[in-house]
Amino acid sequence: EEMIDKFSTFLDSGICRLAGANAVFVDPVRLINDFYTRFKVSPATYYSRLLKSVEDGSPSVCAGTRRKKRKRSDCQLNARELCAEKRHQEARPILLKAYEAFLGRKNLLSFVFNSKKDGSYPVRNENMPQLQDDNELSFVDLGSVWQAPFYEMSLRFLEKDKLGKGDDLQLIKCGEEMKVPIFNNLVSNDTEDDAEGEFLGKVYILPRVSSFHMSDMKRIHDLVPDQSDNGFNFIVIDPPWENGSARQKRMYPTLPDRYFLSLPVKRLTHAQGALVALWVTNKEKLRVFVENELFPAWGITNFSCFYWLKVKPDGSLISELDLFHHRPYECLLVGYCWREGAANDLATVRPLPDYEVIISIPGDYSRKPPIGQVLLDYVPGPKPSRCIELFARELAAGWTSWGNEPLHFQELNYFTNS
Ligand code: SAM
Repeated sequence: EEMIDKFSTFLDSGICRLAGANAVFVDPVRLINDFYTRFKVSPATYYSRLLKSVEDGSPSVCAGTRRKKRKRSDCQLNARELCAEKRHQEARPILLKAYEAFLGRKNLLSFVFNSKKDGSYPVRNENMPQLQDDNELSFVDLGSVWQAPFYEMSLRFLEKDKLGKGDDLQLIKCGEEMKVPIFNNLVSNDTEDDAEGEFLGKVYILPRVSSFHMSDMKRIHDLVPDQSDNGFNFIVIDPPWENGSARQKRMYPTLPDRYFLSLPVKRLTHAQGALVALWVTNKEKLRVFVENELFPAWGITNFSCFYWLKVKPDGSLISELDLFHHRPYECLLVGYCWREGAANDLATVRPLPDYEVIISIPGDYSRKPPIGQVLLDYVPGPKPSRCIELFARELAAGWTSWGNEPLHFQELNYFTNS
């Protein structure tokens, strides 16, 4: 059923369908907060990168210097650039229509930063812990040393049954402590409440019914289920694609495109099929590789292109729509994977639209909006769907997160305890 285009639904769900366009506006903060009972992410934390640039006047994500760099006329474009330009020209009217529909609902933005419903959404909060990158643990580094198998996380679960009315949560939560290896191991919070994990003096929040497997790609086979019934119905993949940006190189390690051919997507797929969503960059060479080699190798069929259009807190696009090397949008290719020999179950799922536009304000560098709720209707197989994110940097309720740093955004620092 179509989502009802009302503020009240947006306030609850964080998703607002935009009338007249194949588009939705999403508030990642609301979507994320729905995963937690005791902890919340504040817009000030999630959107800190953009808010910071607004405050101190430093260049925002769209980086002013790049803007001057290239504005070549069509006749100077090489063959590949021409293909990219053609792709952009196809996307343009779709994006403009979605953006227009969004501008008609710009008042949504005031709800992103100021929720009347719970007053805990200030743009600036002086009590906010300062996020300092240099203070963060590098799971990528820790996981690659020989001692990695010996590192343990202490898990604390809230024992709800012991909770009396008016009891202080802080006193009760100590419950039982459980020590588990933090690397190369599936760690789960099977309870219906947030759990806390302590590791090297820092606390990480694990949402209800979530698991993570923190390991290098070499170990991804540990996630392949023994039986296809235990496979996944929804697979989201955001690979560490190589790209020239020096900035990116400092943020996380990247891998050559061809490495991803060996991802066991089909073997991760549930007996009744999976919806597979892959984030790609705007690099034409990559797009061609994905469509001609990667998707055939993984067995992805019938895919559509979803666009993520990025806006600033004031509603403007994060960069000019036609800027060649810095588009204000990214693509999410969404298709299906069926197991070898299994019947193609397309008739039982809601058909994917040819395209859809997801509009949101971006968070930290390369952090993608949570798209689970937006795509759930298209997921084949039994409910609740079994969902996995590959190369994840955060956890989500109902999901398994795999990557070499899936706890990155789970540190207590990113949450307010209200
Ligand atoms: N979707 C994430 C988000 O929204 O925050 C961003 C994922 S980022 C594009 C890719 C991730 O893959 C990074 O966290 C990076 O550390 C991880 N990665 C890089 N090389 C890896 C490897 N060999 N094995 C596992 N993960 C790896």
